[in-house]
Amino acid sequence: MEYAALVEVYERLAGTQSTHEKTAIVAETLAETAHEDLPMTAQLLRGTLFAPWNPAELGVSSSLATRAIERATGVPAEEVEADWRETGDLGSAAARAVERAVQQTLVSETLTVEGVYADLRELAGYEGTGSEDRRVDTVAGLLADADPDEAQYVVRTALGHLRLGVGRGTVRDAIAAAFLGGDPDEPGETPEADVQAVERALQVTNDPGLVAQTAADAGRPGLADLDLEVGRPVEVMLAEKADSVEAAVADTLETSSATGGADSGDADPTAPPAPLSEYKVDGFRAQVHFAAGEHGDGATGPRIFTRRLEDVTAQFPDVVDAMDGFDADSYIVEGEIVAYDPDTGEPVPFQQLSRRIKRKHDVERLVEAVPVVLYLFDLLSLDGASLLDRSLVERVDALEGRLTERERGLERMPNLRSREPDRVREFYEAALAAGHEGLMVKTADAAYQPGKRVGYTRKVKPTMESLDLVVTRAKWSEGRRSNNLGRLYLACRDGDRFREVGRLSTGFTDDQLAELTARLEPHVLEEDGRAVDLEPTEVLEVAYEEVQESPKYDSGYALRFPRFEGFRDDLDVGDADTVERVESLYEGQ
Ligand code: AMP
Repeated sequence: MEYAALVEVYERLAGTQSTHEKTAIVAETLAETAHEDLPMTAQLLRGTLFAPWNPAELGVSSSLATRAIERATGVPAEEVEADWRETGDLGSAAARAVERAVQQTLVSETLTVEGVYADLRELAGYEGTGSEDRRVDTVAGLLADADPDEAQYVVRTALGHLRLGVGRGTVRDAIAAAFLGGDPDEPGETPEADVQAVERALQVTNDPGLVAQTAADAGRPGLADLDLEVGRPVEVMLAEKADSVEAAVADTLETSSATGGADSGDADPTAPPAPLSEYKVDGFRAQVHFAAGEHGDGATGPRIFTRRLEDVTAQFPDVVDAMDGFDADSYIVEGEIVAYDPDTGEPVPFQQLSRRIKRKHDVERLVEAVPVVLYLFDLLSLDGASLLDRSLVERVDALEGRLTERERGLERMPNLRSREPDRVREFYEAALAAGHEGLMVKTADAAYQPGKRVGYTRKVKPTMESLDLVVTRAKWSEGRRSNNLGRLYLACRDGDRFREVGRLSTGFTDDQLAELTARLEPHVLEEDGRAVDLEPTEVLEVAYEEVQESPKYDSGYALRFPRFEGFRDDLDVGDADTVERVESLYEGQ
């Protein structure tokens, strides 16, 4: 397929703000795509080139792309940069450069979707000396064959910001509309059951290409057959907040579907089973996958994924070793990786651990400096069988049965099975006294629901906890910090939108401020004097004194004295706190 045809689709997507229309365009494109090309097309429509858990990185920075544009077009880098500043988009600057190209290639070839996809994916494999130059060459090679519109999207895709507003939800709805029955009486309307079937398949596989192919081949029954596979991370089940230990216990008992007391150890056989309470420890959620033998890419041994489905195996060789203490031929387990102080043995805040998540070099030194423990709390698959539909207690009983060696950084999450609010409260206080965040209270007989914030897990933490908020706008500072984006507007989620709740300008060190600026700058959408609008990409942890009602921000609330607590690199913007949460904090204070 010619790349120009895909560019036409991109342009149509760029031409509408309506999610409904975007969905229709994506659906039409998928329906017209040849079966074998569906995985590639599904990725390119979102501007990605690899599955989310694939650690491959293209290694294309703005400056590398600028060099490639210069090399392909002969337009000097300074001019490209000036255009970039003016339009806020290096893709548009590339289009302009191609338009003005002073170097004409002798033979220009027609770009194909397959060619662009293959060349860009190849970038991830370049290593060692000269790899930068080869990257520049490859991108320049594509640009030399591109017309202005094509150049714009090649550059945006290479940089990883397609900016067409095609999110996971759009792809999901489009797959349902393109390949499932729909309602013949209401064309254009996608029945909820179709969307749910695609949603579940995406949660279990995280592979839109496979889901699209399966929907096309085998409809809803085929989607229902898609299951967990070791090596392919599953979206994690999420927790809801409870205002007190007592409320958490009551809520979990209420969400129990059972009336039989098989697991409750209770005299009353009709009582729901006692909830399982566990420490809530402050680290990052890890999903560890293992199958004996080789993975598809020839590697062996456990693989560790974050909650954002990123592969962080290379950063945690100590956790890989510790998994020797889990005895199974194949498994998917979940737990929390926590850092502790090697001298005191106390847990240390997430920010310390985040150094280890990010650093890909010097791993051995960090293993020593920031030791970790993996506290296991769930088992999703064992010896080739999915346990998603089993009850929590069945899953954790199986988990405990296979945990043979609790040394060297592998532990079961401290837990208590009790329906007595007083006992659960004591356990909560013990968790806080040991330096942990609070408690998770879980419904004992609930199945695992990937990707859902369901009422089967309640978290209880002391109030006035920090919020995880997204930066939507900023202002360049004046004075000593004038090269920095120093005033950040923070927003919480409201469905698919972001609503502002305050302005942050304190709590960061100079280094942190410089890092924030470096991270935010590539995502500037528009500049007006010192004010910039940003694509929402960064989640920050923010502490504050109080939540106030305020007409100043469109959430209707304002944080009093917000201060920066740290980056939340383990969260996506879709994981940021919601306006409902801000509201409930306001009401609870
Ligand atoms: P929050 O990020 O505040 O919504 O809390 C949910 C997160 O708490 C999960 O994604 C885990 O990373 C973490 N967590 C800590 N302890 C537990 C536990 N015992 N069970 C489940 N999640 C836990």
